[in-house]
Amino acid sequence: MLCDYCGIREATLSDKTVVNNGVAEYRFCKECYVSILRSGVSPFAAMQEKNARKGKECPSCGWTARDFAEKFMFGCPDCYRNMREVALAAADATQASHRHTGSRPEGDAR
Ligand SMILES: [Zn+2]
Ligand SMILES: [Zn+2]
Repeated sequence: MLCDYCGIREATLSDKTVVNNGVAEYRFCKECYVSILRSGVSPFAAMQEKNARKGKECPSCGWTARDFAEKFMFGCPDCYRNMREVALAAADATQASHRHTGSRPEGDAR
């Protein structure tokens, strides 16, 4: 079983937390567990935060979907892979806003 946090190393520790609908359990490798505790948050809080950002931030360089929307560029080659859905949605939105400057919409020709 791999570490839920980094997904790279083998998990050797687990952390159970009681939540509203039961018990949430996450598994961690020792490296992640130690570094999370050292940062001053609980492993559960760290996982919640990580899940909330999932797909919206590049773990390689820290570039966020918001950075992409503002600058329309990526921070590193991993960004596209890590945030593909966000990037595609942003590209769609940009194209849609440019479309009205063109000719008549497709499908209108009879
Ligand atoms: Zn880990
Ligand atoms: Zn990146």
